[in-house]
Amino acid sequence: MNTVNLVMADTDAPPKTNLVGLSRAELQQTLADIGEPAFRAKQLWHWIYHQGETDFASMTTMAKDLRAKLAEQFIVERPGITREQTSSDKARKWLFNFPDGNEVETVFIPEEDRGAVCVSSQVGCSLTCTFCHTGTMKLVRNLSAAEIVGQFMAARDSYGEWPSPSGTRLLSNIVMMGMGEPLLNYDNVAKALRIIMDGEGIALSKRRITLSTSGVVPLMDRCGEDLGVNLAVSLHAVTDELRDVLVPINKKHPIRDLLAACRRYPGANNARRITFEYVMLKGINDSAADAKELVRLVKGIPVKFNLIPFNPWPGVEYECSEARDMKRFADILNDGGFSAPIRVPRGRDILAACGQLKSASERVVGQMREARRIEKAALQTPAAGE
Ligand code: SAH
Ligand code: SF4
Repeated sequence: MNTVNLVMADTDAPPKTNLVGLSRAELQQTLADIGEPAFRAKQLWHWIYHQGETDFASMTTMAKDLRAKLAEQFIVERPGITREQTSSDKARKWLFNFPDGNEVETVFIPEEDRGAVCVSSQVGCSLTCTFCHTGTMKLVRNLSAAEIVGQFMAARDSYGEWPSPSGTRLLSNIVMMGMGEPLLNYDNVAKALRIIMDGEGIALSKRRITLSTSGVVPLMDRCGEDLGVNLAVSLHAVTDELRDVLVPINKKHPIRDLLAACRRYPGANNARRITFEYVMLKGINDSAADAKELVRLVKGIPVKFNLIPFNPWPGVEYECSEARDMKRFADILNDGGFSAPIRVPRGRDILAACGQLKSASERVVGQMREARRIEKAALQTPAAGE
């Protein structure tokens, strides 16, 4: 049973407010509402995000009666863990649950002295990329900032990486490449990333955060201006005809517009390149001609490629390209002057690799309208009106 359920089961007591996921200003206001001065917010922020403490009783820089008062009204909560699996190659995957019963997956890919946590932004996804397991789910709902930050904090709990290290970290990077399209839940993703980047808490630099988008063009500029995180773009095809099928949002924002948004992405330069992800699908997008066209298309954009061998999932009809075709593809990109590593898939045995994530959460009647509203609202933000 997760902590939320325990709290909810607590007879008639009013539900406690989760302090995780509040912005600094909101935390300060929440404390002001119970008569506490602004510096308490700073103290609590440090306990929650630097120390990783969840128990008010252990927050020893505050007086005992204050700790008790906080514990009466608030909680510092992580998502509940439905399941935790570690793959034969040491990738770890969690199925996390939230109080409303929805679930998402989060993955950690450790390397020698670093590692990336792959965080989800939505329950399901409204886009329907044909090669992606998550794309077979409908969008159930957006995750809140608390649920996004909470995934990363729970992953760090699992490795005991608290307090936030100032030097080398095992959980050193975040990639917004889990379930969902992060730019279609922009406000919550931005709020969560600001919390994670805050220098007095988790303090992860924007250079260690990568947001992957399937090409929600109207929000790309805003992401670069507001957050300055690294950008990864799921390109996957060199013609609109094919990309319309593989990544259907292409019908709304075709390759030309997507590349224009990449050209002007704030903060991208030769030292900080945009990553173009390209899933290798046998006989579909992996010819030498495709690779040559790719080199031509990206001329003038500071890019590097990430060639992802297609990861199969139950029921899918695509196949992964042959090794020799992937090598030929990479060689052509290399000859064109681009870095183009072929990713070694991690965590395939526990369905934790790129595009294999899915949870059993399903949209129930009534959530349909809400999901549509979310999609519409996300695309109607001021920055979207270009
Ligand atoms: N929605 C965002 C981020 C999540 S998907 C996006 O689409 O960019 C993360 C990456 O995995 C994307 O590049 C996506 O295209 C890729 N991907 C999806 N399904 C895959 C699969 N079955 N095999 C390999 N990569 C896949
Ligand atoms: Fe959604 Fe990304 Fe999967 Fe496309 S690839 S369905 S945008 S999660």
